[in-house]
Amino acid sequence: MQFKEFNICNILDHAAHYHGHVSVVSSCVEGGVKRTNYLEVYSRTKKLANALNSFLGVQHGDRIGTMAWNTSNHLECWYAIGGVGAICHTINPRLFSDQIDFIVNHAEDRYIFVDLSFVPLVVDLLDRLKTLEAVIVLTDRDNMPDCSELDVPFYCYEEILSAHSEHFQWPVFDETVASSLCYTSGTTGDPKGVIYTHRSNMIHALTSIQPEVFNLNSDHTFLMVVPMFHANSWGLAFSLPMVGAKMVLPGAGLDGESIARLIQSEECTASAAVPTVWTGLLDYLDRTSQLIPTLTETVIGGSAVPSTMIDRFENDYGVDVIHAWGMTEMSPLGTVNRKQKYWDALSKGEQLRVKCKQGRAPFGIQMKIVDDSGSMLPRDGNASGRLFVKGHWVIDQYYKAKESALDSNGWFDTGDIATIDPNGVMEITDRFKDVIKSGGEWISSIEVENAALIHASVSAAACIGVAHEKWEERPLLIIVSSKDGEQSRNGILKLLGDKLAKWQIPDDIIFVENLPMTATGKVDKKVLRSEFGDHYLST
Ligand code: AMP
Repeated sequence: MQFKEFNICNILDHAAHYHGHVSVVSSCVEGGVKRTNYLEVYSRTKKLANALNSFLGVQHGDRIGTMAWNTSNHLECWYAIGGVGAICHTINPRLFSDQIDFIVNHAEDRYIFVDLSFVPLVVDLLDRLKTLEAVIVLTDRDNMPDCSELDVPFYCYEEILSAHSEHFQWPVFDETVASSLCYTSGTTGDPKGVIYTHRSNMIHALTSIQPEVFNLNSDHTFLMVVPMFHANSWGLAFSLPMVGAKMVLPGAGLDGESIARLIQSEECTASAAVPTVWTGLLDYLDRTSQLIPTLTETVIGGSAVPSTMIDRFENDYGVDVIHAWGMTEMSPLGTVNRKQKYWDALSKGEQLRVKCKQGRAPFGIQMKIVDDSGSMLPRDGNASGRLFVKGHWVIDQYYKAKESALDSNGWFDTGDIATIDPNGVMEITDRFKDVIKSGGEWISSIEVENAALIHASVSAAACIGVAHEKWEERPLLIIVSSKDGEQSRNGILKLLGDKLAKWQIPDDIIFVENLPMTATGKVDKKVLRSEFGDHYLST
């Protein structure tokens, strides 16, 4: 058989030739909606590739940053930068500014492509970004801000594109060459860079389109909410063009109302996002009595999906929830929980219980759970231990790190604690650093949170372990409630009593206005621990 190097640009070649007139719709930062298609995206990507080579002098292996929402412009940057053999570094604008300047300097980005909304952020950081030669603003001349007084040039994206030819031959290079770079935003220590290669992205995309995984095809109108600046956009920027699905890109509009409007106006059939986005959508729909009849399913991951969210989506709006788990280090796909035949024999309640689990690994990912001594634990659905993974799209080494990210047998420690049941369905019980150990017994913070979220007045919940004189650590529940907290305290405690063993029930509940969130949409438990860490000692 022939050997042909994988190159991500072959995906766009294919989309242009076989799905050229399929729409790519973006909500624009400048206002309004931009409608284009795969053929036009392809031609503009080639213009950008010419500009990268001849105008910006980009060399093989250079790191080029993007700080942008999900739009067709951003899509063009992903493909053109990777296609010329450079590395597209997606910068998460929600990181603290110290973290942004750390990652841009660590990656040694030569250029950054920015959306208008992030120009002030980049301008503020300019004198700290040591390797930056120019900024390209992803807009047209009419909307271009005046940056003429600044120390580095700010170019207009549309002007650059119109000055370059749409004829470009993608260079051929080794498929293990890097195409993209994404930093993890660990809550401790400096962010760490994860390099994706043309090969890993391609195999990840080929896997994720499968029926057992994201089940993608050209019938779909897919609302791609997961940001292109976090966890490789779950590979959707590659898998959707691969199958010719219509792409709907929400730009900066991630609130419930904007998401609802896009689903309704574009008749979206499927989507993918983290739970906080869906809470916003469901609350908006409930408040306004609107429906989203075209949406048939959505993939949810990034944090555990509470059973109440699955229930609301399925019963109130007819949307199937597909729970998924992964991490930046895994490109990010680890497991997907799609219906299996044996579910037919389960009661509704039992099905809901299985749907709350994170799912099964697709072909290409191996998983194991181990105890503290490193011995493999049984797949019985009860034993819980540290989750290790291996696979074609799993990290080998962090960017510029001196050591491997793997143990001596080639396994990557995910830092998650999980069970795996006899059907191979994995369930995350906690992050290793978040587990609560009370009097020698483990308590799953996710289990406590999911139980609390069943109460009608609880809109968000976080359970943390805090120091306790007698038990070493006891769970403390922190809740955002739609009612006056004290009014619902007894009701919540009663519900927890029905769902959890007595020793798992938090000794106290604290009601707050909001929970602190990380740049990737997860509850920042480090902040909660530092605020409430001595709650039981002081009371
Ligand atoms: P990130 O690299 O920012 O995507 O974070 C990866 C981490 O998010 C994982 O190691 C898990 O701790 C957590 N995570 C991702 N998906 C889920 C999920 N479905 N349920 C629970 N935790 C999740």
